[in-house]
This record gives sequence, C-alpha cells and structure tokens, in this order.
Amino acid sequence: MKFELPPLPYAMDALQPVISGQTLEFHHGKHHLAYINKLNELIEGTHFKGETLEEMIKSADGAIFNNASQAWNHTFYFATFSPKGGGEPSGALAEAINKKWGNFENFRQEFSDAAVSLFGSGWAWLVETKDRGLEIIKESNAGNPLREGHTPLLTFDVWEHAYYLDVQNRRADHIKGLWNIIDWNVVAGRMRKY
Ligand code: FE
Repeated sequence: MKFELPPLPYAMDALQPVISGQTLEFHHGKHHLAYINKLNELIEGTHFKGETLEEMIKSADGAIFNNASQAWNHTFYFATFSPKGGGEPSGALAEAINKKWGNFENFRQEFSDAAVSLFGSGWAWLVETKDRGLEIIKESNAGNPLREGHTPLLTFDVWEHAYYLDVQNRRADHIKGLWNIIDWNVVAGRMRKY
C-alpha cells in the first residue's frame, strides 16, 4: 500500500492572513506531496515497505528517514492549525506549561525564540518527555523528536518554503502570526494519556 497525501483539515484560504492560500497550495500540494511520493519510490523493494512512518522515523537513516519524517512532520504541522485557533491552552497542558515556564507568555517567548534562531531549515518542537515534563527542542532539516522517545505536541516549520511567499525573509513575523491559528485542543489532545 502506498502512502497518500492527507487532505488539509480546512479550506486552502482558511488560515489567511497568517498563511496564504498560495503558500498552502505549494506547501501542502507540492512540498508535502513530494516527500510522500519520494518515500513511496524509495521504499519499493526494501524491508521498509509495509512499515509505518513512525517505525521508519525511528529506524531509518538517509533519504528514507528524511522523506518519512518530512511526510509525518507536515501532517502533524498542518493538523495543528484552525481558522478558529489562537488564545491559550487550558487544563493539563496549561498546568504543565505553567509548571515549566511560570506562565504562557514566557513559554511563547521561548518557543518563538527557538523557532526564529534555528539556523537554516528545520522544526521547533514542544514535546512531552518520558518523565512527562515539557521541553522545547530545535531539530535541523527533517529532525523528529520521536527518535529520542519524546511525545511531540506542537511544531513550527521554519523551512523557508513555509513562509517565503508571504513574508519573504521575515521569519519572525511569520512565527508571530502562527500563535493566532493554533488549535490548543488539538495540541492538548496529543499529551500522553497515562
Ligand atoms: Fe515544510
């Protein structure tokens, strides 16, 4: 069975003005699709065929890791947003953030700094660690915290293809806007249940 591009959970223009329809058309319809198509091609005839993306992320290296991870990362990233997003989390996620950073604003600042300062292409992540604490992690290129056994909760894609059509080189402006479209119910729903 081949991997397929999951549809976006909202209309192409739903996240404007934070992410334009044009950016989504390229980011989802070209970049995300290309990682999936490339992965299907690479695993044909190998023992990876039939494995899940998570299994490949944990065990593969090189091009198979890169494309499996980018396929997973983008599905996770797009699912985080909603035109009705924004605001702050509540419940267990808010408690965990307050425990680690004191308040939401401190967390938002540190996460934004991580995303803005990440050198080159990559992903900024909020993860739940094995001991159930929260951490902010910077990963280069296709990096994925599943490899270290963490549970990913939130990610910002800081590859230029995520924002260049909208704000050119102004990554910080793009990052600032993303806080207005995060669906915190989705993020909280990714926390470990035990
Ligand atoms: Fe991307």
